[in-house]
Amino acid sequence: MTNTTPGAHIIDGVALSKQLRAQVTQRVQALKARGITPGLAVILVGENPASQVYVRNKVKGCEDCGFYSVLEKYDTDMSEAALLERIDTLNRDPTIHGILVQLPVPKQIDANKVIEAISPAKDVDGFHIASAGALMTGMPGFVPCTPYGCMKMLESIGYDLRGKHAVVIGRSNIVGKPMALLLLQKNATVTICHSATRDLKAMTLQADVIVAAVGKRNVLTADMVKPGAVVLDVGMNRNDEGKLCGDVDFEGVRQVAGWITPVPGGVGPMTITMLLVNTLESAERAAA
Ligand code: NAP
Repeated sequence: MTNTTPGAHIIDGVALSKQLRAQVTQRVQALKARGITPGLAVILVGENPASQVYVRNKVKGCEDCGFYSVLEKYDTDMSEAALLERIDTLNRDPTIHGILVQLPVPKQIDANKVIEAISPAKDVDGFHIASAGALMTGMPGFVPCTPYGCMKMLESIGYDLRGKHAVVIGRSNIVGKPMALLLLQKNATVTICHSATRDLKAMTLQADVIVAAVGKRNVLTADMVKPGAVVLDVGMNRNDEGKLCGDVDFEGVRQVAGWITPVPGGVGPMTITMLLVNTLESAERAAA
């Protein structure tokens, strides 16, 4: 993390990722010494350019930490049955501890069927209904990588959530809802906002912690933030110049907030780091 004056402290996702990935690499070496190499299979169906970048970064993250990883690319017209069959084979492959199908999948494939086909023991994205149920009930499972990374960022600044008011903007199954549950687990009082929320500003102004996970620029501006609040920006958007930006008006909000994550260099790298953590965890469980 970096201290900037004036304004908010920056929570640096690149620096924190580096630290966590060094720990992952050490744990990988310890497993390898026992003859086990954590393995991740990444499946990409179709040509979505953003997806191609994501899967490349995921596979590179694996290689850098000493994992075994396979990237399987299939044509856009791959059938649902063929994909399900491939997942079934990977479910039974002992060298593979994590299976990730990059979303979105082409329209002939039902994403829910794909997610449910992955063995919960290898569901390192944490999207399976069994993982969602485990998170909801406080049982061991896999936590979705993006909210998991957000929690690690809060932990990195020593932030105690007990009794704090956290406002999550967005209620998707992969970010907003699991984020809210994780904050609740740490004893925050949680409000979830979405597109039908009547007065978003009235909600965010009460917040000690704000997580913006919408996918729209400038959803959160300085006038909506309580001085000193922690602001985590999950959004990934493009500005008018085509540059990557989040949901938060970073320049404005950093003047008011106590802590803030930048985009790029914030939550994004943490998401991949937590995928590595989940895959390693899966391999360690299999080895236990
Ligand atoms: P999503 O499934 O489209 O969900 C967006 C949520 O935002 C929905 O719950 C929607 O409400 C809500 N919303 C839309 N407009 C709103 C508004 N004006 N005010 C308040 N809430 C509003 O998106 P997602 O998959 O959760 O992703 C959200 C963003 O995070 C995207 O930019 C995505 O690219 C990014 N993301 C980043 C990472 C990373 O690693 N950094 C990982 C995953 C996602 P309704 O439910 O009412 O429609």
